[in-house]
Amino acid sequence: MNKLNTIHLHTRYSDGLNDAYEYIEEAIKQGLSSIGISDHSPVPLKSSWAMKKEDLPRYIEELNYLKKIYGKNINIYTGMELDYIQGLDVKGYIDFDELDLDYYIGSVHYIYSELIDGYGTADNTQDMVEKLLNEGFNGDSLAFYTRYYQTVREMIKEYNPILIAHFDVLEKRNIKKILFDPESEGYKVQVEMSLDLIKESCVEVNTGAMAKDIDVLYPSEYILKRCIEKNISVSINSDCHFISGLSFAYEKAIHLLKKTGFNYVHVFDGVMKKVKI
Ligand SMILES: [Zn+2]
Ligand SMILES: [Zn+2]
Repeated sequence: MNKLNTIHLHTRYSDGLNDAYEYIEEAIKQGLSSIGISDHSPVPLKSSWAMKKEDLPRYIEELNYLKKIYGKNINIYTGMELDYIQGLDVKGYIDFDELDLDYYIGSVHYIYSELIDGYGTADNTQDMVEKLLNEGFNGDSLAFYTRYYQTVREMIKEYNPILIAHFDVLEKRNIKKILFDPESEGYKVQVEMSLDLIKESCVEVNTGAMAKDIDVLYPSEYILKRCIEKNISVSINSDCHFISGLSFAYEKAIHLLKKTGFNYVHVFDGVMKKVKI
């Protein structure tokens, strides 16, 4: 049995290309220890990737059904990638407390800008993210990443998720260091302040971009080192949007983690469990 899993993946209910049963069958084939389905939560604004609010009951029902069908072969968990959006009540919008989820992960995709009096997205095409920096923040990198990490900190405080998805997702479109300098003191201060707020949450080591041919594994090596020094646990997940990404580049993630000094990762199987790598 493969001791790792993923609890971060997307089906057709949000922006994934496969159905939950296809991921589950692939996970059984790969011998993964367990699997969690975590489609993007419905959000109270126009979104090209979020689940539709009216689909939510069907989503939960379908996963309950799949647990009955496949449950003897693999542990299946009903989850959600819960978006945190400054100024909007995502939890209230979906009656979160009434949902019978096994877990949820917390993430930030939307960044509020006073200048455009609205939201741009941190996880988007290169052009769109650069447009957000320029039009939403007058090209001011410090203001841009400060707002992002401010939002991450609010998410950590309000959601206290078991897993913080793609902690530094801004790196996805910053390979050529066009958006900001990750070595700068200002950036490091924001990272530090955000890591300091983490209590029990694991930081996700996310291979999702790599499966889409973007050569970024987040968090950055620098942030991973800070996690070790601060005793923050990490958990490898694929954030996959199609079945071939289910456990994509896990060897690479393990290699990097070992190089950084990690001997363990955490794997969710009902609760977060420590697993040796
Ligand atoms: Zn995400
Ligand atoms: Zn995701």
